Amino acid sequence: MLINRAYKFRMYPNEKEQELINKTIGCSRFVYNYMLSLKKKNIKLSAYDLIKEIPNLVKNNSFLKEVDSCALRCAIFDLDNGFKKYYQRKVGYPKYKKKGVKDSYRTNYIKGEYKETTYESIKIDLQKGIIKLPKLKEVKIKGYRKLEKINGRIINATIEHIAKKYYVSVSVEEEIKEEENTYQNAVGIDLGVKSIVVTSDGEYYGNPDYLKKYEKKIKGLQKGLSRKEKGSKNYYKCQNKIQEVYRKLQNSRRKMNEEIVSKIIKNNNIIVSEDLSINEMIKEANKSLRKNIINSTMGDIIRRLEYKCKWLNKKLIKVNRYYASSQICSSCGNIKKEMKNLNKRKYECEKCGIEIERDLNASINIMYEGIIQNYI
Ligand SMILES: [Zn+2]
Repeated sequence: MLINRAYKFRMYPNEKEQELINKTIGCSRFVYNYMLSLKKKNIKLSAYDLIKEIPNLVKNNSFLKEVDSCALRCAIFDLDNGFKKYYQRKVGYPKYKKKGVKDSYRTNYIKGEYKETTYESIKIDLQKGIIKLPKLKEVKIKGYRKLEKINGRIINATIEHIAKKYYVSVSVEEEIKEEENTYQNAVGIDLGVKSIVVTSDGEYYGNPDYLKKYEKKIKGLQKGLSRKEKGSKNYYKCQNKIQEVYRKLQNSRRKMNEEIVSKIIKNNNIIVSEDLSINEMIKEANKSLRKNIINSTMGDIIRRLEYKCKWLNKKLIKVNRYYASSQICSSCGNIKKEMKNLNKRKYECEKCGIEIERDLNASINIMYEGIIQNYI
């Protein structure tokens, strides 16, 4: 079975290389924004129509010649993807990119032969700790020290500039062995606010309190940013600091989520979870920073579960979000409408007399519902 995997390395470009990376990021943002303006005038333009515009654009803006031309095309594909997702109602209408927000560019792997030598646009040598990228030649990287080489086909590389640091994320298609699987152990998981994950086995994972510290820092810095003059040195300094806090938050969340997911998967072959619809999450977005962080944490856990289940040939079942997992008694099937109130932390059933913690009750129901929907 083929799966996609991303390897993320810290990059150590020298001054000249940094300059070129920053230029390429700027140029791909320039192309993205220019093409978005064309698209706004004529929505029917396809990605290929836009690509045909590149030579003209380069003629009038010679600085575009200095950077990786593939990155310019990738900017158009990213824009096209943005529109596709918008029409599938997964994301909002594509916006103009601003400097200092998600500074990155992507370039695709291209292989060609010329005079009996093979050319590859992206190459990684883990022994030497080097990545070769178009126009950049060899740049130092660090990461995956235990790995000898990357087994698989490189698809593309995304180069990011975050808070004065550089990263490259290499997307690879890998062949993995499918494991024999007999579905025996099932577990239901409830994604909650008190604990990030509660399992039907009675395990509670991830206390969202750890987010508080980051939340406080981000809020403080955002307040500071709003007082600074846009475009000033101090404004960028503050923006950098915010990015750095977000990166730290992402790192610590990644570690926590990886741990949670491997523990859940270790002893179970069938994992049943709620189907968190992205649409709903977008509607809820911007409610509060805390809610956003928790939502994206849940989304990240689901993505990791999907990926790991595929990898290890386990089954992930998603139960409709509107299944009333918290209102049903997991012991006798009684329904209590008042459990809609999130503040009720305990399910006390008048019918069978059981008293059970709210999220644990929900996770047991989720497990049963998944099994019923798929096997009975
Ligand atoms: Zn009951």
